[in-house]
Amino acid sequence: MAEILDGKALAQKVRQEIKEIIAADPLLSARPPCLALLLVGDNEASTHYVALKAKMAAKVGINTREFALPAAVSESALVATIEELNNDPAVDAILLQLPLPAHINTPKMLMAISPKKDVDGFHPYNVGLLHMGLSGIQPCTPRGIMALLAEYKINVSGKRALVIGRSNIVGTPMAALLKRADATVTLAHSKSQNLRELIAEADIVVSAAGKAGLVHGSMLKSGAIVIDVGQNYGSDGTLCGDVDFISAEKKAAYITPVPGGVGPLTIAFLLKNALELRLGNDQEK
Ligand code: NAP
Repeated sequence: MAEILDGKALAQKVRQEIKEIIAADPLLSARPPCLALLLVGDNEASTHYVALKAKMAAKVGINTREFALPAAVSESALVATIEELNNDPAVDAILLQLPLPAHINTPKMLMAISPKKDVDGFHPYNVGLLHMGLSGIQPCTPRGIMALLAEYKINVSGKRALVIGRSNIVGTPMAALLKRADATVTLAHSKSQNLRELIAEADIVVSAAGKAGLVHGSMLKSGAIVIDVGQNYGSDGTLCGDVDFISAEKKAAYITPVPGGVGPLTIAFLLKNALELRLGNDQEK
């Protein structure tokens, strides 16, 4: 039976550390980190995530400023808001909640955010640093996964890692971080033809496809490390990952559950990124 990688516990530990760092530092206590949260439109999931981020930030002593813009907002008005925040010395970090309405060019908006306030690490400058193996703000979900592996002293060096999904938010930065940690990385996507074979060869499987049941225990190499990023909702509203947990747990050495695995780490590392932006620190390799 696999050992459970408890993301909820690590997220709690990370939030506690942030809280203590802020409370112990007179400068931070006097002027806590300030995270601007930009929401465009009234997408239910996005509204929920922004509210959750604000709530979790408040718990650790990070201030937030929320900006709710109408779904019909023009690109130029959104850029103007971002630029105002870029130029506001009281704002340390800017989060633009995705997805944006279809009429807005998302990469253009992400590029409008100052790389020095880019809390999600989605600006091409920070993406470039990540892929060059240099210090910079890293996307929260992959950063959280690397921290979870480290927490359980799982050394990825020399291991064969398969990342399923190549989005700029999860799959691609995840592959970059695993490569930096000296894993031998394969990046699969919807056009990959031999996914079963790739899964069977992998010591580490990170599934970020958003497809329930994509990875079954019978496909896994015995003793694999299985990280399930997927968040899929059944018709009854229940949350599940990409991995069939019951069968995978029997074959894997380590596995993340859904919920309670990767999910809680994303916000915890968002808060950590916000604190580091306030401190002007970069993450070390
Ligand atoms: P996305 O932008 O939709 O990307 C999904 C990726 O999976 C794409 O690269 C796609 O390939 C690939 N894919 C889809 N079906 C596949 C299949 N059958 N076989 C192989 N690859 C397949 O999604 P995302 O934003 O990266 O998110 C992925 C999942 O993680 C979602 O369930 C999302 O809700 C979840 N998520 C969770 C967290 C968290 O905190 N736990 C954070 C972010 C995202 P193509 O590129 O070829 O289309």
